[in-house]
Amino acid sequence: MKSIITALTGFAATALLWVYFRPPFGKNVVRLNTDERVVALTFDDGPNPPYTDRLLDILAVHNVKATFFMIGNRIERHPETARRIIAEKHQVGNHSYSHPLLGFCPPNIVRREIEKTDMLFQELGITEKTVFRAPLLTRFLPVAYVLAQQDRPHISCNVWGWDWMTQHPGKINRTVLRKVKPGSIIVLHDGKAENKDANRWGTVEATDQIITGLKQEGYRFVRLSDVGNW
Ligand SMILES: [Zn+2]
Repeated sequence: MKSIITALTGFAATALLWVYFRPPFGKNVVRLNTDERVVALTFDDGPNPPYTDRLLDILAVHNVKATFFMIGNRIERHPETARRIIAEKHQVGNHSYSHPLLGFCPPNIVRREIEKTDMLFQELGITEKTVFRAPLLTRFLPVAYVLAQQDRPHISCNVWGWDWMTQHPGKINRTVLRKVKPGSIIVLHDGKAENKDANRWGTVEATDQIITGLKQEGYRFVRLSDVGNW
């Protein structure tokens, strides 16, 4: 009897953990819904001048549109860079207001973090509901719950550039090119959460190389909602 109770308790604990960390409802988008040679470049944690501006210059040279998941308090600090991203027809995404470990916050904090950044986008003239990505991809139960209430998918990714570990452009480029498949959502970082001094020249240079390399392999670049349909 005792062993049955132990087994049942263990099973219940595992099930609860599973539901917390892998909520079985709502939508978690890890790739674009296409088999064509199309990828989405996404940049997290900006705006972060001058790196974001240099990145915008490079995207313009290649005539590539990307998606920028911005942090609210960085939009407040650098509204001119956020405005430039919007003016140059890139897509904007909500990456919370202050980049906490959102998956471990209660739903009221999660809601406030998302809504504060929504308001900032509204002030910048964005009228449609933006896409959302949780800091450190912590789409745990409280985040999934709030997003489900808002009928909003969580945008994850399936290719990491590991540019938070290295700023060596060649390494970032090789890591991305090795993993890309049709429909990949690639995540890179033009900023670093709260770190004002984050140097992102490696990411900027790597982006130039990644675009050149993938174009040679016949890939096109889209914003997330150019494919949408998730
Ligand atoms: Zn982030």
